[in-house]
Amino acid sequence: MTNQIRIGIVGGGLAGITVAIALVKHPHVDVQVYESAPKFIERGAGIGLSPITLEALGDIIPSAVDFLKTHAGAVEIDAARLVVGSGPGAGTLISDLGVAAGVTLNRAPLLQALLSLLPGNMLHAAKRVRSLEQSDSGVTVAFEDGTDAHFDAVIGADGIFSSIRNFVVGEKPEKYAASPAGWWDCRHLVPFEKAKTALGDESFKVDRQYAWLGDGAAMLHGIVENGTMVQCIIAVIDKNLSTDRKRKVTRQVLQDALPASWYEGTVAKGMVELILDQEDPKGYAIWEHKFTPTYANNQVCIVGDAAHTTSPWQSAGAGMAIEDAFILGHLLGDISSVQEVNAAFRAFDALRRPRCQRVIDTGRKTGHLFCGQDEVAGLDARKLNESLGQTFAHVGSLNLESHKNDALKTMRAFLAS
Ligand SMILES: Cc1cc2nc3c(=O)[nH]c(=O)nc-3n(C[C@H](O)[C@H](O)[C@H](O)COP(=O)(O)OP(=O)(O)OC[C@H]3O[C@@H](n4cnc5c(N)ncnc54)[C@H](O)[C@@H]3O)c2cc1C
Repeated sequence: MTNQIRIGIVGGGLAGITVAIALVKHPHVDVQVYESAPKFIERGAGIGLSPITLEALGDIIPSAVDFLKTHAGAVEIDAARLVVGSGPGAGTLISDLGVAAGVTLNRAPLLQALLSLLPGNMLHAAKRVRSLEQSDSGVTVAFEDGTDAHFDAVIGADGIFSSIRNFVVGEKPEKYAASPAGWWDCRHLVPFEKAKTALGDESFKVDRQYAWLGDGAAMLHGIVENGTMVQCIIAVIDKNLSTDRKRKVTRQVLQDALPASWYEGTVAKGMVELILDQEDPKGYAIWEHKFTPTYANNQVCIVGDAAHTTSPWQSAGAGMAIEDAFILGHLLGDISSVQEVNAAFRAFDALRRPRCQRVIDTGRKTGHLFCGQDEVAGLDARKLNESLGQTFAHVGSLNLESHKNDALKTMRAFLAS
């Protein structure tokens, strides 16, 4: 088709691929995705997708939950059970978050399932973007292999340390770069029976992810991969705000990081053993974007972690990326010419930035509550329940239909002005 709007997506993680799926259905848009790694793969942890995320994904992929169950081993599960994990109150139930079911699944099969929905000829691996240049005729993308490509618009989905973000925010990009959020975590994926033996029946009493909140740390475990595996995470405070992305984790490191009060509870001993029972355990710094002046700069915009890296406490990072794809899909689906792309990107910024920044801010507050750092709530189950109810409420209460309509209305106002 001639006169298509040519869009280059930089980054083939969950954000880039979900945006590509949301755009590829529009015949007036041509999409190409560029990934720096030699293959399109995801590493690491299991994730939870909330009901609101599944609603957004269901707009992009029909019957999304069935699709994720069949193709990505998703397990339908109620939201997390929160329990005090350390000190004399260990074992006290704080709350069972939410009532509606979401799913948990592993990131690697999730990405592979999403990739299966895209034609192979629009996916370009081993293409690391080196720089962008914007002109009246569009955006030229230069790759590290010496080649370049020209687009009408570019969407940066290149993750936490995004170079497209630097381009979009303009002067002094270091001011807006991701910074340590104040915690690091270590994880391991273990077979279900092994986890149950180490953590005890109490940790699997209800069909939920468990979060154990305690002094200076939190521990989380959740079932993934069709119920065969359990994702285990220990997150601890990082007082030094270290910018080392990775650190070696040993028994001594965990002993130093976890106050003795954790061993008054039932979960710490087993979690420590499960985390250490892997070759070369590693801890990862948790990052966040504290402030972002804009998600859009003329014909370039940013999505996913490139735009709004958040600490993982509210399990919302991928959810925000999927909401981005939902909104961007509708905005770019509603226009018909290259000249209208800028209004679409500005409307995207206007709607998505306040929403995502709020999630980043309440994510941080949630981390403080989870690790006993909130001076008012401490480790008092009732106070924690009350405060967490407030920090989680807005994440899941977005009305997607209104959000979409507001975005479209905003874009049309920009076009009319
Ligand atoms: C411990 C942990 C637990 C989490 N749990 C949850 C959860 O339960 N629920 C939830 O919703 N979210 C969760 N998240 C967050 C979620 O995983 C992320 O928000 C999401 O995966 C981000 O996707 P992305 O595509 O934006 O970024 P990434 O996955 O980082 O993808 C960026 C891609 O861009 C590529 N790239 C980078 N630079 C370039 C370049 N110059 N040129 C070309 N390609 C480039 C990279 O190779 C990469 O493939 C969690 C995160 C962590 C760390």
